[in-house]
Amino acid sequence: MSDKPRILIDIDGVLVNFLKRYAEYYFKDTGKFVNWHNIDNYDLRLSMPTLTKYKYLYDPEFYTGIDFLPGAISTIDKLYEDQYLVQFVTAAVTKESMVAKFDLLSRTFSWFHIEKNWMVLSRKQLLFIPNSVIIDDNPHFFEESQLRYNICFAWEHNKHLRGRVNLYTDNWLEIYSFIRSLK
Ligand SMILES: [Mg+2]
Repeated sequence: MSDKPRILIDIDGVLVNFLKRYAEYYFKDTGKFVNWHNIDNYDLRLSMPTLTKYKYLYDPEFYTGIDFLPGAISTIDKLYEDQYLVQFVTAAVTKESMVAKFDLLSRTFSWFHIEKNWMVLSRKQLLFIPNSVIIDDNPHFFEESQLRYNICFAWEHNKHLRGRVNLYTDNWLEIYSFIRSLK
């Protein structure tokens, strides 16, 4: 396993459809419809203004029933079977969302262990793991990433990164092929 790159996977916008969920909460809360396909700024307060930042992430149910992105679960399971060290990396936002994400991962991946497959950081830009691949969707992250292989999960809000990362895609099969081509 040692010569294989470590696989670091963001949760919101990479494993699950965070924008769709957030827009559903916003609609229930305010009655205002936001087409999540068209959200073109990573700062959600610009498209869904609320008084509290991360307002809906205090709800322990936020991740219950959330949509997974197509192909994410089966590809991540496959990477685990292929003997990659898979770690989910997430920036701490609210206590409720941390617990809910942990529950989601435990329920979804039979092999998931908190000690081995989970990393919570204040800023992902601080990560320094020489032989690693990260899959993330945060454009600010890629501007400062110190990691070797950077895969940007494609959304409207990060389209300016097309061509500036190792791979820009929203297709998990393409992500799998890229990772397998590395060694
Ligand atoms: Mg994300």
